[in-house]
Amino acid sequence: MSSKAAHKIGIVWFRQDLRLSDNPALKAAIAECEQVVPVFIDDPTDGTISSIGEASRAWLHHALASLAQSLEEHDNELLIRQGDPLTELEALLADTAATAVYWNRAYDPATKTRDSAIKSVLSESVQVISCNGLLLVEPWHLAKGDGSPYRVFTPFWRRLLAMLSEQDLKPLAAPRKGTLERRAKVTAKLAIADLGLLPERDWGESMMSYWAPGEKAAAKQLSRFLKQQVTDYDEQRDIPSVEGTSRLSPSLHTGEISARQVMFAIQSTGADITEKGTGIEAYAREIGWREFATHLIYHFPDTVSEPLDSRFSRFPWAPDNKTTRDKLQRWQRGMTGVPIVDAGMRELYATGWMHNRVRMVVASYLVKNLLIPWQRGEAWFRHTLVDADVASNVMGWQWAAGSGADAAPFFRIFNPVLQGEKFDKAGEYVRHWVPELDSVPNRFIHKPWELPKSDQPADYPSPLVDLKASREEALAAFSTIKLPQQQ
Ligand SMILES: Cc1cc2nc3c(=O)[nH]c(=O)nc-3n(C[C@H](O)[C@H](O)[C@H](O)COP(=O)(O)OP(=O)(O)OC[C@H]3O[C@@H](n4cnc5c(N)ncnc54)[C@H](O)[C@@H]3O)c2cc1C
Repeated sequence: MSSKAAHKIGIVWFRQDLRLSDNPALKAAIAECEQVVPVFIDDPTDGTISSIGEASRAWLHHALASLAQSLEEHDNELLIRQGDPLTELEALLADTAATAVYWNRAYDPATKTRDSAIKSVLSESVQVISCNGLLLVEPWHLAKGDGSPYRVFTPFWRRLLAMLSEQDLKPLAAPRKGTLERRAKVTAKLAIADLGLLPERDWGESMMSYWAPGEKAAAKQLSRFLKQQVTDYDEQRDIPSVEGTSRLSPSLHTGEISARQVMFAIQSTGADITEKGTGIEAYAREIGWREFATHLIYHFPDTVSEPLDSRFSRFPWAPDNKTTRDKLQRWQRGMTGVPIVDAGMRELYATGWMHNRVRMVVASYLVKNLLIPWQRGEAWFRHTLVDADVASNVMGWQWAAGSGADAAPFFRIFNPVLQGEKFDKAGEYVRHWVPELDSVPNRFIHKPWELPKSDQPADYPSPLVDLKASREEALAAFSTIKLPQQQ
């Protein structure tokens, strides 16, 4: 890193790194420039972080407000722009007389393509510095012995752990007071509210009442989780009625906390993160899954919309007609008649989040019992999740469909009744989100259709499809593509 140049002004382009601490791009700008101009550019059309769904945009609004507040405390100001990022950056460079642009990289195909185009144009006139603020290890530094990318998690994780054991994970400190002050004047600027990130309906407000976005809140949440919950994480993380997971996914997605900060905090507990069967090992491994998802999307960019296992491009999905669309809509609204599926879908719509175990169950139900292409489910999740993340969402959906890396074999079809009986024994989760089933006895809570007709709740739908028959149909559909996998 070169030393601070007198009068040098640098733009820091914030994207999926809405934090001041452990922010390599910001750190580099502060080290090299006399003044730093922080900016967020919203471009709802470019397929990157800004074109995420409504729930994530609501989250983004609050995350930006929190970042703006932190910058204000440093006598700086987060500039807000909307439009084509290259045009906006060029205007800002001219406006501020800045001679450098800094950002932290993202690895999804849309962002990668956009960023390299911007970098090649801007590099002709100013300095462009991109850094790694999103991952523990860059995807190009992690490869199998033969140089090809990993497609299976366990060896990937082993290699990542080995690399981490040789690295200093200590996160970068937040800027010191007085190091971020800005005097460069900027004429055109918007308020965060001008971006229209909040949904017009009440939905956004009630959904966000479950959350506390922002860098400080994320740090607090992590510290509380590691003090109070992580020990039991291995046992509790599959129980959807219990708050047994960290709920940091939206903050990790928007970068209000970094993977490095989480991993360093995990290490700092002093526990052995390789000791199987412990909460800390299981939790660190989940951070590994996030890393793996990004690794996959970087190396296999087509999987954003295409199956990684090419056999699935011939899969006989249900035709795109009114019947299928009606089924999709009933799934989206939590009205399939399968309690654990409906509870999950309603939790998603109410809170912008769904428990991981239930994500797997609702995804399996959509692709296997309803034979609806995984891309439809991925799109709905992208629209409604506050943590919607291209890499993790695509990996989760391809896993459920059986077409992704490390995927569950297609013939292993989740039985949502058994899943409910195993992970929500007393039906607490279902009763919370599907109050129509409140008075159903525990024995029937996951299969109310087995109650005598007169005892079935009148306001709850009967099952959209028969679970046994639809399972057979799924297996028959799968048998049509069951040829050796082409890689
Ligand atoms: C169909 C499907 C879609 C999904 N879509 C997303 C998505 O859009 N965004 C997203 O962040 N996660 C997604 N996941 C993964 C997982 O469900 C969430 O990360 C997790 O539920 C978030 O809750 P948490 O923060 O309490 O997780 P914790 O259990 O506390 O885990 C800690 C962190 O590890 C990461 N993580 C955990 N599980 C996974 C996983 N399976 N894959 C990748 N990263 C993981 C997350 O960043 C999470 O915050 C999806 C899973 C499935 C099955």
